[in-house]
Amino acid sequence: MQTESPIDFASLNLIAPIMRAVQDEGYTVPSPVQAAAIPIVLDGSDLIATAKTGTGKTAAFAIPMLQLLDESGSPGDALRGLILTPTRELALQIHENLQAYGRHLKLTHAVVVGGVSAGPQIQALRRRPDILVATPGRLLDLMGQGKVRLRDVEIAVLDEADRMLDMGFIRDVRRIVDALPRQRQTLLFSATMSKEIEKLAGEMLHKPARVEVTPPATVADNITQKVMFVDQGDKRDLLVKLLKDDDSIGCALVFTRTRHRANRVARQLSQSGISADAIHSDKSQGARQKALELFARGKVRVLVATDIVARGIDVDGITHVINFEIPNEAESYVHRIGRTARAGAAGIALSFCNAEEIAFLADIEKLTGIRLEEVDEHPFRHQGIASRRDTGGSAPPKKKARGGSGGGGNGGGGNSNGNGSRSGGNGSAQRGQRSPAAAEGTSSNRRGGPRRQPRGEGTQSRPTSQREGRGSETAAPKKPHFGRRPRTA
Ligand code: AMP
Repeated sequence: MQTESPIDFASLNLIAPIMRAVQDEGYTVPSPVQAAAIPIVLDGSDLIATAKTGTGKTAAFAIPMLQLLDESGSPGDALRGLILTPTRELALQIHENLQAYGRHLKLTHAVVVGGVSAGPQIQALRRRPDILVATPGRLLDLMGQGKVRLRDVEIAVLDEADRMLDMGFIRDVRRIVDALPRQRQTLLFSATMSKEIEKLAGEMLHKPARVEVTPPATVADNITQKVMFVDQGDKRDLLVKLLKDDDSIGCALVFTRTRHRANRVARQLSQSGISADAIHSDKSQGARQKALELFARGKVRVLVATDIVARGIDVDGITHVINFEIPNEAESYVHRIGRTARAGAAGIALSFCNAEEIAFLADIEKLTGIRLEEVDEHPFRHQGIASRRDTGGSAPPKKKARGGSGGGGNGGGGNSNGNGSRSGGNGSAQRGQRSPAAAEGTSSNRRGGPRRQPRGEGTQSRPTSQREGRGSETAAPKKPHFGRRPRTA
């Protein structure tokens, strides 16, 4: 089941002091993971949530935890909430969030983390906090010293469970969970799901509900993604050749990084006899609208666009997205290629990669967890650039070593205004670029995951895929994709 995140905080049945705190924070709408998880937790169920840092996951467990503990007992009674998290930084961040969301409640919180003196933490524990945020090692130490007892814990959260496993905390976590009462509510949050996490959840959770927030970097599995290594100066000719030779490119959206280049590429295509137009923020709304309409109606075969306007392009039937230039922000790549393969159709994304763009390509592959297959049968292939791919782009580019037959021309330069399209290569070599996988709509880089969704959109469902390949890094929180007003407090 897919859920949008259209609801507001008011419909989450939050108590007034928490609503006020949320408003103080400037949050206008719940993030998808919040919209999905808060009702489940308030309902008393155990929960497994797949969500990364940056999705608003902390509030997704902290807000309902605060509300439940506020309703279930009196402040200062006993330690009733425990949040286990892998790092000191995360623990402090969670503690700050608890203070923010609980600022109009009387519940108290404390943090115990390693790497600093235990004295002040022990003192804080003596003040009988209602909620404790802890890293596993220090918590076990203090439990061993009899400074903290977990027997009254009603709600336990395992935050960033995948990272706790990666960091070797699994035995510590098990020992801590063993010390919790059997009657409790347990919430497990993890950026990725794996067999190990499932196993842990199986041991520690009772009939958990599941929430999965599709990360923004998820690419639709019906998009075949390929890369072509080419000198910047040859990109124009490569594009012309592709468009001339490959009839399957019915409707192509070509991306450049600058407006200037978008204009120039569109002009060069027109001069080569390919119907093309450019769309970018320098154009009037009317001109953009007209270009889009002509494109959507098939009157213009190629639309050359910059990233800024691309987000508003929602045209069915775009067969190809061609990155004439690879974006320096990996997320832009995901947005760009999401313009094809709409409405369930298959789509192809081709990226032209020059020497400087190798690093951008690496970022994209890291973000999406997909290695782009190379199209190496084309006359403008640059062996030197291709071979730099796996050395991280550090080696200087070697001389061009063109493959394919009849790769004609040299230089030309993306900056020239010349219109002489090279005739290099032959059609069959060109058609050969479409691998059987591409032609049949299957691809080795296909993913088993759900279709890409707009940023921040979530699903509440059983996880459909494992996501270890995407990396479990959570160190650098990303900007949230949901609304926030300027703080009022
Ligand atoms: P987290 O994923 O919990 O680390 O949250 C990432 C960032 O999103 C933090 O700076 C939160 O303060 C912020 N945040 C959490 N929920 C919301 C919301 N509903 N609206 C706007 N910002 C939020």
